Amino acid sequence: MSAPWIPAAFRCFDERDWPEQGAWDLLQEEARHLQVRRVKPGSTLTLLNGKGAWAEARLLHLDKRSARVDILETRQQEQPFPQLSLCIGGLKASAWEEMLPHLVELGVNRIIRVETDHAVSLLKEGKLEAKRKRWREKCVQACKQCALAWLPELVIAESLDAVDLPPVDVELWASLQEDSRELRDVHSLLMDAKSLRIWVGPEGDFSEREQLWFRERHLPSVSMGPRILRAETAALSLAAWCRLSR
Ligand code: SAH
Repeated sequence: MSAPWIPAAFRCFDERDWPEQGAWDLLQEEARHLQVRRVKPGSTLTLLNGKGAWAEARLLHLDKRSARVDILETRQQEQPFPQLSLCIGGLKASAWEEMLPHLVELGVNRIIRVETDHAVSLLKEGKLEAKRKRWREKCVQACKQCALAWLPELVIAESLDAVDLPPVDVELWASLQEDSRELRDVHSLLMDAKSLRIWVGPEGDFSEREQLWFRERHLPSVSMGPRILRAETAALSLAAWCRLSR
């Protein structure tokens, strides 16, 4: 096995299929970003394509509109494992946007925003495409920040029923109900799982109808202790639990 790379301090995102080696022109946006950061020709960069490839490259030329690099070597990065889908009830836009980069850093593979009964529905407000684009950009920036070559999938679902539910090894919902199991009691489930799906309610919690939906599907509910966490704290804690405790 070859030695792991240390990613360069300057990281660029480029979804196009770049050559494994050789000269490559970055997108104008990335050129501007390198200019702002005053990166000098000769500096080493890391390229990420969002689909698992990352490359070591050297900056050959830079001006306001263009950046040419010499790709030295391209490698495949392992996808964050186990596969983690996090379904989160609709938070208000500011909280949602603040949370997104942290979920990316924690390697959540699929981030699903669910417009639950008590959610702040952004779908009704319209401008969905603009929001989707903005959120995707936040995820791209986070990938660059943490040198992750896998852009998570970002899904917006109108209700619990609208969420695509491929089979997973472990599925849990975070709940404040008394019959919830402690995280340590479901730890063995996490240890063996290749894929997980976890549900977190919105600020207004899951409605009774939604709680019934989980119960009818026989999903275990998990507790994170006696305090009522904000939905984003709950989501981030569960993502961290999945990533750091195995
Ligand atoms: N407004 C509600 C709290 C909602 S908290 C109230 O005041 O009672 C938002 C979501 O975070 C919940 O639906 C649940 O999924 C999750 N959550 C918050 N604290 C939790 C805890 N201690 N254990 C498990 N899940 C929790």
